[in-house]
Amino acid sequence: MKCSFCGQNEAVLVRAYSGEKLCKKCFLKAVEDRVRTTIAEYGMFAFDDRILVAVSGGKDSIGVLHVLVGIERRFPKARLLAVSIDEGIRGYRDEALRIAVENCKLLGVEHSVLSFDSLFGVTLDEVVQKARKLPSAKRLGSCAYCGVLRRRALDLAAKKLKVDVLVLGHNLDDVVQTYLLNIVHGDVWRVRHFGAVSMDSDGRFVRRVRPFCLVPERETAFYAYLKNVKFQSVACPYAGEALRNDARYWLNRLEQRHAGSLFAVFRSFEKIGKAMVQQEREFGVCKRCGEPCPAAEDACVACKSLEKLGVF
Ligand code: SF4
Ligand code: ZN
Ligand code: ZN
Repeated sequence: MKCSFCGQNEAVLVRAYSGEKLCKKCFLKAVEDRVRTTIAEYGMFAFDDRILVAVSGGKDSIGVLHVLVGIERRFPKARLLAVSIDEGIRGYRDEALRIAVENCKLLGVEHSVLSFDSLFGVTLDEVVQKARKLPSAKRLGSCAYCGVLRRRALDLAAKKLKVDVLVLGHNLDDVVQTYLLNIVHGDVWRVRHFGAVSMDSDGRFVRRVRPFCLVPERETAFYAYLKNVKFQSVACPYAGEALRNDARYWLNRLEQRHAGSLFAVFRSFEKIGKAMVQQEREFGVCKRCGEPCPAAEDACVACKSLEKLGVF
């Protein structure tokens, strides 16, 4: 089976969603090209940005770091930094942190580590212990605590290191799973915080971008493998509890039966997120009744009408 890109080498991967067959060389280039196109399509970086990559030690964050180091070489005014968050998960994070340190050293990227313990005075293991004592109705899953604290830790790291943008290694599968989980949890508004670029552009949080968001997980794993990149393979001891596993299983089945579904779901949620942001921009809040009103106005049509009628 020949590569459909170069027509010469033997293919090592078939993309079910496009029918393309790729040899090793063309596959590596195709992933890097897709990241480049994604960065350009969403305007992820400025030429002189200070860029912070969140490196967990897993295949995606390490992979994205390798791709960005290659791209950064062409932008001498940009600066690439890396940070790892040590959640305090005994027997799990140690290996991941070692791998993160090794990769950053290899690539010449300045790397720092922040821990839950130093920032919040508690490790994730301790949080989980405390949570287990709560009545089940008040208790969240380990990943929910971990996610909230990690987001805060990354924001603090971004502020401390004075960066313009934070890079997350989430791949296409991760992003679509999160969309689905937000729907399951009833957090539809979070749609705009997830995707290629988090759409909370009000300046309160550092901008978050996901250059791997259009690369399926199968390809990020294969990319890391073919590049001979060292990454952590041990799963987090709390991962088994996650609702995310069910979402992953369901979405994998969908993708297997209907190749290309993940891309379609991604684009659909992106449209929903944009529409939400658009709506927020177009609507302000009426100062009299608190209901939405055109952003340029200070009162809604109903209040203005009643005011004109002398009711108020
Ligand atoms: Fe945290 Fe859950 Fe990921 Fe483990 S699997 S590192 S608990 S988010
Ligand atoms: Zn080829
Ligand atoms: Zn009103």
